[in-house]
Amino acid sequence: MYRSHTCGELRTPDIGTRVILSGWVQKVRDKGFVVWVDLRDRYGITQLVFDEQRTTATLLAEARKLGREFVIQVHGEVIERTSKNPQLSTGDIEILVSEIKILNPALLPPFTIEDDTDGGTDLRMKYRYLDIRRNPIKNNLIFRSKVAMEVRKYLSEQGFIEVETPYLIKSTPEGARDFVVPSRMNQGQFYALPQSPQTFKQLLMVGGLDKYFQIVKCFRDEDLRADRQPEFTQIDCEMAFVEQEDVLNAFEGLTRHLLKEIRGIEVEKFPRMTYDEAMKTYGNDKPDIRFEMRFGELNDVSQHRDFQIFNAAELVVGIAVPGGASLTRKEIDHLTDWLRRPQIGAKGMVYVRCNEDGSYKSSVDKFYDQEDLKKWAEATNAQTGDLICVLSGDTMSTRTQLSALRMEMAERLGLRNPLVFAPLWVIDFPLLEKDEETGDYHAMHHPFTSPKPGQLELLDTDPDAVRANAYDLVLNGNEIGGGSIRIHDKKMQSTMFRHLGFTEEEARAQFGFLMDAFQYGAPPHGGIAFGLDRLVAILGGQETIRDFIAFPKNNSGRDVMIDAPAPIDKAQLKELNLRLENNEG
Ligand code: ASP
Repeated sequence: MYRSHTCGELRTPDIGTRVILSGWVQKVRDKGFVVWVDLRDRYGITQLVFDEQRTTATLLAEARKLGREFVIQVHGEVIERTSKNPQLSTGDIEILVSEIKILNPALLPPFTIEDDTDGGTDLRMKYRYLDIRRNPIKNNLIFRSKVAMEVRKYLSEQGFIEVETPYLIKSTPEGARDFVVPSRMNQGQFYALPQSPQTFKQLLMVGGLDKYFQIVKCFRDEDLRADRQPEFTQIDCEMAFVEQEDVLNAFEGLTRHLLKEIRGIEVEKFPRMTYDEAMKTYGNDKPDIRFEMRFGELNDVSQHRDFQIFNAAELVVGIAVPGGASLTRKEIDHLTDWLRRPQIGAKGMVYVRCNEDGSYKSSVDKFYDQEDLKKWAEATNAQTGDLICVLSGDTMSTRTQLSALRMEMAERLGLRNPLVFAPLWVIDFPLLEKDEETGDYHAMHHPFTSPKPGQLELLDTDPDAVRANAYDLVLNGNEIGGGSIRIHDKKMQSTMFRHLGFTEEEARAQFGFLMDAFQYGAPPHGGIAFGLDRLVAILGGQETIRDFIAFPKNNSGRDVMIDAPAPIDKAQLKELNLRLENNEG
C-alpha cells in the first residue's frame, strides 16, 4: 500500500493515527535540530517533521538528503503542530516520521513548482508535466473536468445521447484548411481530420437519434492567432424537429445550468440582438455588454459643416467614455497614437470633452458649435465628465476601430470584470460573406446553414441581404457557441452549393453522401457547438484558453514538449508513397 491517506486530508481529529503518505517533496527546511519537509500531492500539502529528540540520526540524515520533487513514501504518526499554519487546511497537524522511502529521486526542476513560478511560458510548456503539478494549472484542469461533467449531466438529463463520430474523414468545410492524414492502404489518398463533426451529426438526425451531443476534438489548420489552438474541443450538439427558438432555449438552459452549478450565478433570460444591430451598436458581432459605451452614429449631425474629413466619410460614429473628460491632452494624444497603430489602423480621432458646467470642448471647435456638440452628446448618450471619441471612414473599418477603442477603454476603466457574466444571443446572421479580395461569396457559418424562410430567391439578386437561421452565443465579448438551422432538402442544398461556387460535380464528389441522405427522409434539424476551451476559461474568470488545456500547442502550432510536428523517417514516407521535394525520401 502506497498510502493510507492523501496529503490533503489529515486534520486535528486524526491526531494519534498512524498513517502512510506518498507524494512529492515541495520544500525541505533544515533548522539544524529539526527538519521539516512539505509533502505534496494533488490534494494538498502535509508537513513532515524530523527532529533530534524524536527521530533517529539515520532518519534525520535521510531527510536532509531529500531534494525538491523527490517522490517519497513515509510512515508516521499524526501529531499536533506547535506553531500552526492557518493558511493551510492541514496546518494544525504534522507527521512525526518513523520511516521514509525514496520511491524516485528527481532532478532539480527547471522552474519552481509554486503558484507564482519563476518559469517563463516556453519553459513551462517544455516541462508541462511539471507545470501541471502547480496549483493554478492543476486547479484549471480539475475545473475543466467539472464543467465537462456538468455538461454531460445536463444534456443527458435533457435526453441528448453522446455519440462518437470518426476522426478520419473527408473534408468538412468550416472555413479553415484541413489537416490531412495520408492513407497507407489507399496510396495517394488522404483522410482529413474533422474541422467539426458537422455532416455526421446531421446524418445522425437522418438516422433518427433526435438529440445528439459529443464533447469532441476538432482540427483546423488556420494561421494561428494568439490563443487559438489547431486542435480544440467542442460541445457539439444537434436536434431534430426543431426551429431556431427550440435550439436557443435548449442551450440557454445548458449555459444557465453551468453558470449556476459552476459559479453559483443565476442569470435572467438572455438578451437577443440581431447581427445588424450588434454591428451598428457595438461595431462587433460578439459585443461585450457588461458595460455601455454604445455607438452613436453622427452622420446626420456632423456632415453639415465644412469639416471635409467627416463630410467625405461613409460613417461618422462615436462613443462616450465615462469620466474621460479628465484625460489630459497628452493622454488623449497617446490614445490617438494607439488607434493609429497598424493593428488598429485609424487615421485619427476627434474628441469632445463634456465639461462639468455643461459646456463642450472639442478638437474641432473651428467647425462645430455648442449646439452641434450637444447633439453628438445626445447621440452617444454622453454625460458630463465623459469624453466623446469620434472616428470616421468606411463603415466596416470604422466600426472595427471604434469597437477596439471601446474594449480598450473598458479594460482601462476596469469594466471587464471577469466575475460578471453577461450572455447574449446574436441572431439573424448574414448567410453569405463576401471575400473582399476575390469578390467570391462563401458561407458565413457553413454551407449547410439554411436561409431564413422566403429568402432563397434573394440569393440571385441581393446575396448580401440574405439572412440565415444562424445564431451565436456570446459571453463577455467572446463567441462561445454558434449554430444554425440546417438545410434538409436536397434541392436547396444543391442551390446553396451552386451559389458558393461549387460545380455540380464538385458538390457531388464532396457532399454526395449528405445530399443522398436528404432523399431518404431527413427531418428538419438544427444545432449548435460551444467551444469548450474558451467556455471553461471564461467560467474560470480567465481569458487564456491555453491554461485550461493539459497539453496545449504554442502560437506556432508546435507542441514543444514532444517536439511536434516532426519529420518522419524515410521508410515511413516510402510506405505512404510520399515524396518531399527537398528531400531524397
Ligand atoms: N459545426 C459548427 C461549428 O463548428 C457548429 C454548428 O453549426 O452546429 O461552428
